[in-house]
Amino acid sequence: MRKYEDTYRHKGLRKQLVDSLKQKGITDEKVLTAINNIPRHYFMESAFDKIAYEDRAFPIAEGQTISQPYTVAYQTQLLEVKPREKILEIGTGSGYQAMVLAEMDAHVFTIERQKKLFEEQRNFILRKDYPSIKYFYGDGYDGLPTYAPFDKIIITAAAPFVPPKLVDQLKKGGKMVIPLGEGGVQVMHRITKNEDGTTTDEVFDKFSFVPMVEGRNN
Ligand code: SAH
Repeated sequence: MRKYEDTYRHKGLRKQLVDSLKQKGITDEKVLTAINNIPRHYFMESAFDKIAYEDRAFPIAEGQTISQPYTVAYQTQLLEVKPREKILEIGTGSGYQAMVLAEMDAHVFTIERQKKLFEEQRNFILRKDYPSIKYFYGDGYDGLPTYAPFDKIIITAAAPFVPPKLVDQLKKGGKMVIPLGEGGVQVMHRITKNEDGTTTDEVFDKFSFVPMVEGRNN
C-alpha cells in the first residue's frame, strides 16, 4: 500500500534532507530544488513513510532499489543538466531519478529491463505531472538508437565496462555519468565525448549500486 498525501511534516523532512545534502557537498541549486519538490515517499510502500527522507537507499520491487538521495544528487550534479537537454537514463527503477531530471526541465528517455518495474510506472500517480518523460522496456546496453544522439547519459546500475553503443549515442560535447566496477563497490566516472570523437574520463567517489545486467527480464 502507498499513501499519496504530501503533508507539512513530509515537506519539513524533505527540507531537512536537502540541508543534509548541502552539508555533504551538493551545491547545484537546481538539483536541490528538484529534490525539495518531489515527494519521495510516494515512491515507497507506506511502511517506509517515516524514513523516506533519511539519506539512504530503499528496497522496491524485484529486489531492486531506489537510490540514496545523496547518490541521485551527486550523479545529477555531475551531469550538469541544462533545460531542454535530451537525457538517456539506464535503470528506471522507481522512476525517482527520471523525475528529478524532468523537474530540471530535461527531456528524459529512461530504460528498464525488468518488465514489472516498467509496467508499474504506467499507473504511478506522479506520471501525469511529468509528461515529457518517455519510458522504455529494454536492455540499457543497447540504448535507444532511434532517439539518439543524447546530450547526456546517466547509468544508475553498476556497469562492468562502458557500453560502446552508449558512447556512440552520445552527442559530441555530451557527457555520460556511470558507476563502473563489479562487486560491492563502484567508482563514479564522467565520460565526455570530444569534438574529434575521442573521450575524456574523469574519476570521482565510490558508491554501491545493483548490477547492470544484460538482456530484458520478463
Ligand atoms: N534510477 C533508479 C534506481 C534504480 S536501481 C531510481 O531512481 O529508482 C537500478 C535499476 O537498473 C534496476 O531497476 C534494474 O532493474 C535496472 N537495470 C539493471 N540492468 C539494466 C539494463 N541492462 N537495462 C536497463 N535497466 C537495467
